[in-house]
Amino acid sequence: MIFDVVISGAGPNGLMLACELALAGVKPLVLEQRTGPSDEQRANGMVGQVIRLLDRRGLYERLSPSAPVPAAQFMFAAFPLPLQSLSDNPVYLVMVPQRKIEETLAERAAELGVTIRLGHALSGLAQKDDRVLVDVDGPDGPYRIEARYLVGADGGRSVTRKLAGIGFPGVTTDRTVSRTAHVTVPASYRDAVTGGLRVPGYGVIPPFLHHRTEFGLIAYAPFPDGRTLLSVNTYDMPAPASDFTLAELQEALTHVLGGIEVPLGPPDGDGPHLLRRLEAGNTRLAERYRDGRVLLVGDAAHVHSAMGGPGLNLGLQDAVNLGWKLAATVRGWAPDGLLDTYETERRPAGERVTMHTLAQRTLVGPGPEVTALRTLFGELLREPAVLRHIAALIAGSDITYPTGSDEPVVGRFAPDLGPVTRSGRPLLVDNTGLLGSVAAPWRDRVDVVSVPVEGPAAMLVRPDSYVAWALPTAAAPLPAPDAGASPDLGASPDAGADAGAGAAPGAEALRSALTRWFGEPAAVS
Ligand SMILES: Cc1cc2nc3c(=O)[nH]c(=O)nc-3n(C[C@H](O)[C@H](O)[C@H](O)COP(=O)(O)OP(=O)(O)OC[C@H]3O[C@@H](n4cnc5c(N)ncnc54)[C@H](O)[C@@H]3O)c2cc1C
Repeated sequence: MIFDVVISGAGPNGLMLACELALAGVKPLVLEQRTGPSDEQRANGMVGQVIRLLDRRGLYERLSPSAPVPAAQFMFAAFPLPLQSLSDNPVYLVMVPQRKIEETLAERAAELGVTIRLGHALSGLAQKDDRVLVDVDGPDGPYRIEARYLVGADGGRSVTRKLAGIGFPGVTTDRTVSRTAHVTVPASYRDAVTGGLRVPGYGVIPPFLHHRTEFGLIAYAPFPDGRTLLSVNTYDMPAPASDFTLAELQEALTHVLGGIEVPLGPPDGDGPHLLRRLEAGNTRLAERYRDGRVLLVGDAAHVHSAMGGPGLNLGLQDAVNLGWKLAATVRGWAPDGLLDTYETERRPAGERVTMHTLAQRTLVGPGPEVTALRTLFGELLREPAVLRHIAALIAGSDITYPTGSDEPVVGRFAPDLGPVTRSGRPLLVDNTGLLGSVAAPWRDRVDVVSVPVEGPAAMLVRPDSYVAWALPTAAAPLPAPDAGASPDLGASPDAGADAGAGAAPGAEALRSALTRWFGEPAAVS
């Protein structure tokens, strides 16, 4: 038996990819070296466009009881961003632990019929012309399987990436030590008005935001459940060889506050309680996202500072970009080059995130020269255009895929279309009533829908929610659907089986976009 797709790694990105493949009709096999859920505490939430995307798949409602909303305030390099001042704020935010995200995605994958083999680690691979030989270490010993495609979703230390010989260039910063723990602080140090940390002789450190001093970075997070997480980053204060303790966190906090002591106590209540020290930090981007039949997704393709939590926004959108393209390739209808657009579209998105996280690391660094740079950057941030630019960067909503079209919406994230996007199928949104028959030969893979939406009267929307084509807004006024032939915007007289559709505005351009993204139409029997 040859598996269509084997995914190495059941972290959030491997699971998301599995769900997307299954929605598109390809059930992958997922290998996971862990034998149970991870007990590592990573993400506390997600930020950016991915929240809208998860909502479009009906997954957001499993993570949060309230509808997705943009954050009134967020942060960039320890600068508070007054996002409520933006009319079109793209910085959606949800606070939800990574474990819950993984549970939700695993549950969805199971509903969609995906098999996950826990306790099975990928240990080797060899590519042949038409398949990949995958070596696995399982609970009963090593074995080999075959797959048409293998996806490495096995995290920053990706075995898949290493075995495929894909380089991972970048930088390692070894001056930083990040210390994080659940703590208690005396009531007199808690600011009743802001919820922040009141430091005598210094001021109030606002809650849930990074706060920089010339000696390091503090993040104070008093969660509504009563638990308080404190994170302190230092420079040139190396970690001792001994295990991390609360006393070490206390010492680091005092150092970053320039000698002022805030007494820290151990956390109250039931655990698990976090006590974590991370040394150094990597910012790296895979030199290729694909090598033949092997692809990389998520942290396997990029690692960077967790500052501002951009990881899942990036990785889950990689997974959704790749899912439908890989499924189309496996199912045989993918046009030439479709799978390669995964790298041409998503690697630049990875470059943006590695760029801005590295820039943020620099901007929170120690020393008076960084303080001077921050003064200037802070002045720039007061410009609404700069704030908007940074907000789009954080949200990942500034990503435009290359399409060759001049239409402003094409290559960009589509407007919300309601429940029709849950299926993950390509959509022709046709509010003209004239173009549905143009897409009819693709009906096995493209659904035609009419949804009231701001923007062009017709749009072709890919499964990852990006617009592949739109009826030019400068088009001549559309006739009523029953008004017969209309001015042609490029249709050739013999362009379609249906003469009416062939003459509809944009028909020829739509046909060409359908072919470009969704292949040749199915043969009519
Ligand atoms: C401290 C910290 C805080 C973070 N905070 C945030 C945040 O607030 N918001 C945010 O968006 N992101 C955050 N991130 C980033 C986020 O956690 C990662 O981007 C995310 O986990 C990447 O998911 P992944 O599926 O690509 O990889 P991983 O989560 O690393 O999953 C990889 C999986 O592959 C498995 N695996 C590895 N090797 C093999 C093998 N050989 N065979 C089979 N299975 C294998 C692993 O066991 C693991 O389950 C944070 C990261 C850290 C470290």
